[in-house]
Amino acid sequence: IFWPERKNSAGVALTDRTARAGLVADMERALAAPFDAGPIVDGLESVGGPQAALLTSPHDRRERLGSVRIATPREVEAALASAERAAHGWDRQGGPARARILDYAADLVERDRARLMAVLAREAGKTLPAALAEVRETVDLLRYYAVEARRLMSAPLILKGPTGETNELELRGRGPFACIAPWNFPLAIFVGQIAAALAAGNPVLAKPAEQSPVAAMLAVQLLHSAGVPKDVLHLLTGTGAVGAALVKSPKVKGVAFTGGNEAAWAIQKALADRKAEIVPLIAETGGLNAMIADSSALPEQVVRDAVRSAFDSAGQRCSALRVLFVQEEIASHTIRMLTGAAEALDVGDPFDYATDVGPVIDEAAQDALEAHKVRMQREGRELIDVRLPNHCRAGTYVTPAVYEMDRMSVLDREVFGPILHVVRFAGGHLPKVIEEVNATGYGLTLGLHSRIESTAKFVAERARVGNLYVNRNQIGAVPGVQPFGGEGLSGTGPKAGGPNYLARFATERVRSTDV
Ligand code: GLU
Repeated sequence: IFWPERKNSAGVALTDRTARAGLVADMERALAAPFDAGPIVDGLESVGGPQAALLTSPHDRRERLGSVRIATPREVEAALASAERAAHGWDRQGGPARARILDYAADLVERDRARLMAVLAREAGKTLPAALAEVRETVDLLRYYAVEARRLMSAPLILKGPTGETNELELRGRGPFACIAPWNFPLAIFVGQIAAALAAGNPVLAKPAEQSPVAAMLAVQLLHSAGVPKDVLHLLTGTGAVGAALVKSPKVKGVAFTGGNEAAWAIQKALADRKAEIVPLIAETGGLNAMIADSSALPEQVVRDAVRSAFDSAGQRCSALRVLFVQEEIASHTIRMLTGAAEALDVGDPFDYATDVGPVIDEAAQDALEAHKVRMQREGRELIDVRLPNHCRAGTYVTPAVYEMDRMSVLDREVFGPILHVVRFAGGHLPKVIEEVNATGYGLTLGLHSRIESTAKFVAERARVGNLYVNRNQIGAVPGVQPFGGEGLSGTGPKAGGPNYLARFATERVRSTDV
């Protein structure tokens, strides 16, 4: 068994009043001056071009966070040309040299924790525990891919043949990679994609989500400070148009994407239309995730894990729980407790430690979620919709809500926010429930609460999901321990934070030499 030495990311005891006060004071200090985000090409934070747009916080739209300037077509071209020139040299450095840089980047991220958490809270609406967890995930991903670069890219793998010849297999970089990241993990997923692409020997053109350019800018600056050459990593802020320009470019030799299905299909199509070569796409897309609680489950445990899975990060995780299936025998009791627990959730300012649920990312998300609530009042039954506190009215908040419905197919797409649906099922109908879950076409996470071993085996056998969680919550996969990613409509694999991830960013070459 390969069991590498790897430091865990450091935590902070948020329950400790003094430690927390110190951290929050540092976070507030980090926000004293506004951030000017924009493209970073060859390490240069360029000025000029189109006018910068104002950035505000989803917690309060009157609160100015800074400004952002989107990359011009000329900047995109310059970054592509520079990355192409840098590709060979970076690939030749080898895994161990790149790993040292990533390890150092992890230390820098850890050191800069307060500032990064402040930006996650203000730019993306992350609560203190969620922001801390995201910084830690970022650190863990950097260290994990460093370990993987050493494991896979230190020396060629010698394959013995019967003929006396030597056969060597090695992994090499593919060339410039476009890494297109989502806003829901503006640091962890953004850095995770970049770190994997870099570790495998590729220069990177990083395109963050439109909603989270500041976190991206800080991350790129830290990676440069850690020693990633300036021509090996470029930041291109902007809308989907920037991503579209990247995937069309013949200079881009691979794409890592996390986001919606429509965008993933558009990328696949654009890559196919290039014709000259076959360019790999690594895509992590949506989920329509269920949790199943049978009559042997402990209702208190189900409720604790369902609430966490559905409402943590305001439900804005691909992994989040959307539909809880409860077996009839425990349904009334479980639903009563669930409604009570949801009602007790505190909605509010992410900087406030009491807050359980922060804002959703923007007005478009808010409108879509509110429209879904209206639809559920018609097509389901409202069990609870938490009241919005007055101090949240200037932000893009959506309150946690729970609806009961008859079947999962009432949902025809991912509902990306703090809305949970409950479906009761009769004993003996578990196979039908699994069929319903599989029929969504998504295959990301599934929760199971059961103390019957054969049920767990049955579900693991039948359910087409990437991550099955038994008797626990179904979010917050830990790099290296719970490799994360789905199948079907949920993505191409391989799993982020898993042992097969890095190799997919590389190309394999074999040299066979006879005596
Ligand atoms: N890896 C995260 C988790 O396990 C979810 C990532 C995502 O939302 O894309 O909760």
